[in-house]
Amino acid sequence: MLKFTEKMKKVILLFTIIIAFSSCKNKEELRAISKKETASDSTEVQKTSEFSIVIHGGAGTILKKNMTPEKEAAYLAKLEEAIRVGYNILRHGGSSLDAVEKTINVMEDSPLFNAGKGAVFTNAGTNELDASIMDGSTLNAGASAGTKTVRNPINLARTIMENSPHVMLSGAGAETFAKEHDLEIVDSSYFYTEDRFQSLQHVKEYEAKKQTDDKTAFYDSTIKDSKFGTVGCVALDKHGNLAAGTSTGGMTNKRWGRIGDAPIIGAGTYANNNTCAVSSTGWGEFFIRAMVAHDISALMEYKALSLKEAAKEVIQEKVPHLGGDGGIIAVDKYGNMVMEFNTAGMYRASMNDEGKLTIGIYKN
Ligand code: ASP
Repeated sequence: MLKFTEKMKKVILLFTIIIAFSSCKNKEELRAISKKETASDSTEVQKTSEFSIVIHGGAGTILKKNMTPEKEAAYLAKLEEAIRVGYNILRHGGSSLDAVEKTINVMEDSPLFNAGKGAVFTNAGTNELDASIMDGSTLNAGASAGTKTVRNPINLARTIMENSPHVMLSGAGAETFAKEHDLEIVDSSYFYTEDRFQSLQHVKEYEAKKQTDDKTAFYDSTIKDSKFGTVGCVALDKHGNLAAGTSTGGMTNKRWGRIGDAPIIGAGTYANNNTCAVSSTGWGEFFIRAMVAHDISALMEYKALSLKEAAKEVIQEKVPHLGGDGGIIAVDKYGNMVMEFNTAGMYRASMNDEGKLTIGIYKN
């Protein structure tokens, strides 16, 4: 009996040693993995830019053959004017939120883009504007949808974020809120531009000729290409804070109070200091279904993808597989910038802390 107990003791001891050894090994492995992670982190940790800013003015079938030299020059000049506003704010230590808002204001005030002054027309011949903004440092966000008299919807989105307990306001209520907060209100005729009005007539004629079913109207390329020109801006400031904003008139000929992705936090706009800031442009229905902006951030947060990899995955794989098209601009917490699109072109520009400006319209 005594002999048996001794034997048992030895067996237990041996067992304990084996378990202890293997757990040490596991710990070693874990340490090795985390070292590997830290190593790859640390290559990224070196900031590529102390502050960065990227803008878009919409993605779509933008082809050189359809562009006059004057029109092209006007777009390039406006993109540069807009991004320099944000760049100067960032350079002087201003916040990414200010940079995003003020940069978008320049594009909203230009008839060139489908936002603010150049907003597209609804089926009813009105202009109904959507916008959103997000603060990556607090994950606070604001959005407005379907407003008809607020001159700069991005300012409304920011005011909603900062001065209301809500994230998203729409229609008449959003306009009342804007008035109460002294935002600039304009007569709805302010948004009239001949070009956009003609686009509506064109789409309507086309639709009538084709007798397109309402449910499939958005699948027609002539119709879907008439929506482009949404504007967006993302920025990283010197304090390490990310922000993103998007503003749009939506889609030509939209009806039934249609709201696209631009004012949807997670689809059109997303910012998180732990990952990146994203602004989308494209076929809103698909961007909502793919939750594009948040998906890019989530791939970085949960799968440790780089910003470039995450943006590619969502824009070149996920969205087109669903049947949608468009693009995004984004900046990560290290100042890396990405402008990814699956369309023929995207109005875009970026600037880093050295003042290096890149500006583009077409694919290459
Ligand atoms: N995404 C916008 C919308 O669907 C349109 C665009 O980006 O041009 O409302």
